[in-house]
Amino acid sequence: MDSIDFYVELGVPKGATHDEIRQAFKALARRYHPDRNPDDIPTQEKFQRITRAYEVLSDPEKRQQYDRLGPLYHLDKAPPTADELGKMVSETIGGFFKSHPRFRNGSNIETTLHLALPEVLGCSKDVTVLRGIICTPCSGTGAKTSADKIPCEECNGKGKKSRFFRSPCTACDGRGFRIHKRCAKCGGIGREERSDTLTINVPGGVQQGQILRIKGKGHASLGDKDNGDLLLTVQIRNHPLLERRGRDVYCEIPVLWNEAILGTSLTIPTVEGTTTIRIPPNTQTHQLFRLTGRGLPDANNQNRGDLHIRVIVELPSSLTPQQEQLMRTLVDELLPSQTPKRMDFENKLPSS
Ligand SMILES: [Zn+2]
Ligand SMILES: [Zn+2]
Repeated sequence: MDSIDFYVELGVPKGATHDEIRQAFKALARRYHPDRNPDDIPTQEKFQRITRAYEVLSDPEKRQQYDRLGPLYHLDKAPPTADELGKMVSETIGGFFKSHPRFRNGSNIETTLHLALPEVLGCSKDVTVLRGIICTPCSGTGAKTSADKIPCEECNGKGKKSRFFRSPCTACDGRGFRIHKRCAKCGGIGREERSDTLTINVPGGVQQGQILRIKGKGHASLGDKDNGDLLLTVQIRNHPLLERRGRDVYCEIPVLWNEAILGTSLTIPTVEGTTTIRIPPNTQTHQLFRLTGRGLPDANNQNRGDLHIRVIVELPSSLTPQQEQLMRTLVDELLPSQTPKRMDFENKLPSS
């Protein structure tokens, strides 16, 4: 299903004349042509969208079909699928009473906010988005000069269909005027997409997939409605050694057999970086050590969870003949009481 509104794309009202559509396309094509904007992918995508919109709206037959089907319209004239019809019905019922002019409203910007694990503690993060802002030369009217704003004859410049109905005039999309010559800067849309860098305060304890809403930082509204919002979906990058489980963080550490027996100091990873912990003598494999308060913060009270360190004793994968000899000498001198679990196991074995 095509969710692009071709009229919004060209910045023309639904009741635009053929000439208005042609002029809008010409002005926008000049503004967004790939030759003028090499290596600018968003601009090139915009150009493709306006070309597609013009292809449909400039052809009376296609336009009539598009007006009837709206988002169900397929460029290849294929009939809408059952899925699309179902979705359309629920959307129509949901939006039936919203009769305000569409393209003048500020829509939301949705993007992903990538965070490294330490940033989940809370951070300031710069996010660059392409925002539609009010065009300066035309102050958002889309007209080249104020003389190019011609009062709409359909609604007598009121922007509404009649005194009794509040639905907007389709000839001017509720603006009350039609445009003669279009603003060269924005192509008549009234908005310009500009790269904007915002510093976002990311609170501690955000969750994977959580959406942060920054009010009013979406696309600018051209009418009296609010600007759209910026919606950031949190994506936390995996750490090579640490695993998140809610507020707690887990790590498995390979400890050499001699270190486990004799004890050692080890550098381990933490959410912030690294720290050193003491592995006491005679540590067993899979033993857990807990570093209280070194996990991730709770979003509500900022209390931090714990860092759990699990020791995995690593045995040598092979021995030289000389090492093997030394090992046998060592084992021969071990007393059963030094390995109590094994002694207990053997005592409990049924006699055969
Ligand atoms: Zn009008
Ligand atoms: Zn402009």
